[in-house]
Amino acid sequence: MVDGAVPRTPVIAGNWKMHTTLAEARALATAVRDGCRGLTEIRIAVCPPSTALAAVAEVLAGSTILLGAQDAHWEAAGAHTGCVSPAQIWDAGARLVILGHSERRHGLGETDEVVRRKVTAALLQGLTPLVCVGETAEERAADRTLEVVTRQLDAALGDRVAGEVGRCWLAYEPVWAIGTGQTATPAQAAEVHARLRAALGRRAGAALAAACPILYGGSVKPEVTSALMTEPDIDGALVGGASLKAADFIGIVRAGLEAKGRAGASAR
Ligand code: PEP
Repeated sequence: MVDGAVPRTPVIAGNWKMHTTLAEARALATAVRDGCRGLTEIRIAVCPPSTALAAVAEVLAGSTILLGAQDAHWEAAGAHTGCVSPAQIWDAGARLVILGHSERRHGLGETDEVVRRKVTAALLQGLTPLVCVGETAEERAADRTLEVVTRQLDAALGDRVAGEVGRCWLAYEPVWAIGTGQTATPAQAAEVHARLRAALGRRAGAALAAACPILYGGSVKPEVTSALMTEPDIDGALVGGASLKAADFIGIVRAGLEAKGRAGASAR
């Protein structure tokens, strides 16, 4: 944190992946909305599948919970079967979009260049890109973690100017920790977060870097949240599996608030 900087607001975001019917999405969103009522000292986001964006937007209307999409194409419209554009997810109510998730990089062959185009397009639409970076188990074993995440970050941001960089959120998501039950240790995650913040600082200046939320993702559960978020550079969590159970997700939100010393300021 730079001198005089306002402390970052913690962020907990749920990635529902390819789960939930419309009825399930409405029910989960309702439970999260009601369970998080009054928790004003933290930003909460849910990212349902694109089929449920509009329905969840209706449930969240009037609440402070942010609606996010899980991906968006780089074109505003066109012949791209099966894809959704930044304009379409905006129209459905999303204001945040996860980009560069490892399940797209490694499962669907998404390259750094594709992520860069998507970040550019999302910013143009006025969305907040939540840019994910993370190393594989092999890359960590080869001591390449910091090199890999810095390359992914640089590629995703391309030649975006400082003001645009300052509108992005980041998530460090080690591939080996996603959906495996294996969580990075607070020290492992903190080392990467510090490196990402330093890289942001070089591109956008210390003040914008200090203001950027950098989330950790990878098998986050209520019981590990506190230790992770006690680290000063870990501003929150991107939560997959545990975000599908309202009680677990709300538990993570509350643990995050406590870790950042903000629980007392939010209504209980
Ligand atoms: C994710 O989908 O971004 C994620 C971190 O998943 P999980 O919490 O299930 O590991």
